[in-house]
Amino acid sequence: MEFSSKLLENAVYEVSQLPGIGKRTALRLVLHLLRQPEAQTKNLALALQNLRSEIKFCKKCHNISDTELCEICANPKRDTSLVCVVEDIRDVMAIESTGQYRGVYHVLGGKISPMDGVGPSDLNIATLIEKAKTGEIKEIIFALSSTMEGDTTNFYIFKQLEPYAVITSTIARGIAVGDELEYADEVTLGRSILNRIPFENSLKSEQ
Ligand SMILES: [Zn+2]
Repeated sequence: MEFSSKLLENAVYEVSQLPGIGKRTALRLVLHLLRQPEAQTKNLALALQNLRSEIKFCKKCHNISDTELCEICANPKRDTSLVCVVEDIRDVMAIESTGQYRGVYHVLGGKISPMDGVGPSDLNIATLIEKAKTGEIKEIIFALSSTMEGDTTNFYIFKQLEPYAVITSTIARGIAVGDELEYADEVTLGRSILNRIPFENSLKSEQ
């Protein structure tokens, strides 16, 4: 792509670094911004800048939060002995929208994926095991998407939890294998949390 302006080229390059955005789409978006009032671009830049400089991760569950403790962990009505393990904030949002879950979460920040160079130490797993050690957790519900990486991650955590008196369960597979949680409809997802099954049973059914 030949650019008549270095400024334009730089902006297109940065936008094209976003997932799913090719050079052509990036150019379209940048030209769109140029046609809009200048304030709009400034607001966009400021929102992104503030996001990076001010965002916090809840010190208890690692969910994205504006405060030290996220709204869910800070809510005294939530059952802190019930912990749902999810990949990221999108899963928290999906499960929260079902209105069926009264426990808290533990956000891993990804899944174990040797292909992408993501190992257990790259994820928030150690803090979950620490929580289990203290005895404050009665049950851990695995709610990762049922992909190979999701299953590997569940199994790794399950093994780490073995020495501790924690019940492990997994959300019922109303959700098709390979589906991402965030795409499941609220009714199905809500039901699969209520009808969760012991984690060991999910291992047997797959063999
Ligand atoms: Zn939290």
